[in-house]
Amino acid sequence: MRASSKIWMDGRFVEWDGAKIHVLTHGLHYAYAIFESLRCFRTSRGPAIFRLPEHMERFLNSARTYRMNLGYSKSELEEACVALVKQNKMEECYIRLIAFSAYGEMGVNPLSSKITVAMACWDWGPYLGKDSEYKGVRAMVSSWVRVDSRSLPMQAKCVANYANSALAKMEALAAGYDEAILLNPHGMLAEGPGENIFRVKDGVLSTPPASSGILRGITRDTIIQFAADEGIRFYRNDSAREEIYTSDELFFTGTAAGIARIREVDGRRIGNGQYPVTEKLQRLYKDATHGRIRRYQRWLRYVN
Ligand code: PMP
Repeated sequence: MRASSKIWMDGRFVEWDGAKIHVLTHGLHYAYAIFESLRCFRTSRGPAIFRLPEHMERFLNSARTYRMNLGYSKSELEEACVALVKQNKMEECYIRLIAFSAYGEMGVNPLSSKITVAMACWDWGPYLGKDSEYKGVRAMVSSWVRVDSRSLPMQAKCVANYANSALAKMEALAAGYDEAILLNPHGMLAEGPGENIFRVKDGVLSTPPASSGILRGITRDTIIQFAADEGIRFYRNDSAREEIYTSDELFFTGTAAGIARIREVDGRRIGNGQYPVTEKLQRLYKDATHGRIRRYQRWLRYVN
């Protein structure tokens, strides 16, 4: 991790190395913690945060789901986020927000703990590596099943969800793959450990519906809007495991990962190595995030 200078913590800026918490922090023991990830991109008008209100809305929805009182309004959080990027003089960065039950009480009930809210930003390249964009990654279908939303509300970005993700990720890495693909309890395609997934078959783009137990990704939503604007045929549908293998194109989407091609799943090459639909979406995503498409300027919050 490449440290930057300042971290926003409970309403004020502290030095990067000074943003510390106690080992008996409640949220660390009982996973009462929600988080959010954003990116800020370099544009000709300076740094711009991509889809800031949508990310903050999801953060607030995660808090609502977990009965967590953040103590900040949406606009206060948005302004803090902009100030954070400015403070750190970042041209381009990844931004992480977290809210968790603080040190003080123990026991499972989190509602007697104070909530700490913090945000940090740093320089972070594509999550699945530089080659993930065009060369693509190798993935495996995990033996770990995505948590069912009757057990944990998967549309809330709670730290607890990532224990399931970490098991899948470690399994994939140990088997020599780059990333995992998780199926849901019905055996249908769900998502990656930290990414949504799309497939292209016969020119039709599709992705699992929110009801499949996934996180409703903001990059996923961006891709869906591109498809509508470009007249690419698209639907949300469940896909069986074998439909993953027989896709013409397959890719992950996420704030950290960007749009990452999947070139192989469980030792099976995807399609014929051509990714025309993915390539078009990748170009749009790059241009939109970097402020080069007028109709998508509405998604950018300029820092300066
Ligand atoms: N699914 C999971 C489980 C994730 O952690 C993420 C990353 N936030 C995504 C999907 C993609 O969401 P987004 O495009 O909003 O980053």
